[in-house]
Amino acid sequence: MTGPETTVLVVNSGSSSLKFSLVDPAAGVALADGIIERICEETSHAKLGYRDQEIAREVRAADHDAALRLVFDLFAELGGDLDALGLVAVGHRMVHGGQRYHAPTLIDDAVVADLAELSPLAPLHNPPGVLGIEVAQRILPELPHVAVFDTAFFHDLPAAAATYAIDADVAAQWQIRRYGFHGTSHRYVSEQAADLLGRPYGELKQIVLHLGNGASASAVDRGRAVDTSMGMTPLEGLVMGTRCGDIDPGIVFYLARTAGLSMDEIDTLLNRRSGMLGLAGENDFREVHRLIDAGDAAARLAYEVYVHRLRKYIGAYLAVLGGADVIAFTAGVGENDAAVRRDALAGLEPLGVRLDEARNTSGDRGARVISAEDSAVTVLVVPTDEELAIARDTLAALG
Ligand code: ADP
Repeated sequence: MTGPETTVLVVNSGSSSLKFSLVDPAAGVALADGIIERICEETSHAKLGYRDQEIAREVRAADHDAALRLVFDLFAELGGDLDALGLVAVGHRMVHGGQRYHAPTLIDDAVVADLAELSPLAPLHNPPGVLGIEVAQRILPELPHVAVFDTAFFHDLPAAAATYAIDADVAAQWQIRRYGFHGTSHRYVSEQAADLLGRPYGELKQIVLHLGNGASASAVDRGRAVDTSMGMTPLEGLVMGTRCGDIDPGIVFYLARTAGLSMDEIDTLLNRRSGMLGLAGENDFREVHRLIDAGDAAARLAYEVYVHRLRKYIGAYLAVLGGADVIAFTAGVGENDAAVRRDALAGLEPLGVRLDEARNTSGDRGARVISAEDSAVTVLVVPTDEELAIARDTLAALG
């Protein structure tokens, strides 16, 4: 068996976790992937899969540097050899590129400094991303490192979609606009959808629904993103696992002034204790369904709120696009939860959307059509693969 000619290590560094994936971009597969969670705590949890072997272990990773070194140790323990596997570059997922960064960018010291400067725009996400870059550069100094931005696909949103209706000077001074997130996934899924249908990407009007723990919708008009549900931060838009999505901003003032909550408390409430978790006490949809089946009224309401919001965005984007050719579901909920797909699209036949229930509930994996033959809008499930997209972008940036 001959090995891959070229592989890319993809690093996704969060505040307490580090995900990594060794990708063969030409074959479109990950050779190894894993995660270290609870970095900086007493015990961290490491999981690494390579070929058909897997290690899952409690370890001590005092910081991100230790965590990444541990990954390489585990990889070697499973017989992996990065040189033999043709590792040529490291691709880093960066959440926020600000106004300046959108194309995949070869990282040098100036870029690292710029990205650190953007941190106030994404205080939860960018600092660990920058840390991941610094750590990986220390461990793999001889390789090129490339930053791929979650906001990139939405960089070119029409001004009417990107602009908040607040004082224009304040917005300009503080770089307040709708940036959008999950862009790597929205672009990858919309491109895959065109491939699956054998239609040119530049001809299709698509609505992409990325429904994971974080969730976002986008409207893609013949290859260009023209709207998306996440905004200045990933808090806006759909109901999510633990985030509230759209709310009246007046609630924030009310919680501060009348309920006496601090800004940090409100931030935690809306980002970590809201959404499905806040309403149902569970953010995993498998648990939510179990609760509903057991007659839990709060879980039922949470589900209805979730589906209602999703339907509103689908309707809005049908209007933004003037009708769609494709609605594509992706990520953990979108790929696996047939009930969410069915309920989100129920009764939309007058708008050209007709699901085929047998296709929708079949146990098939992989990209597939789930609408009826006579549906004007083709409904798809398209598994997302952000690591593969980042790996390909990384190679592209290196020319
Ligand atoms: P992340 O946003 O963390 O990348 P994922 O895209 O992996 O998340 O989605 C995780 C979520 O997907 C889980 O919280 C759960 O709600 C949902 N999910 C995963 N598997 C299933 C399943 N078989 N049925 C319904 N929901 C699922």
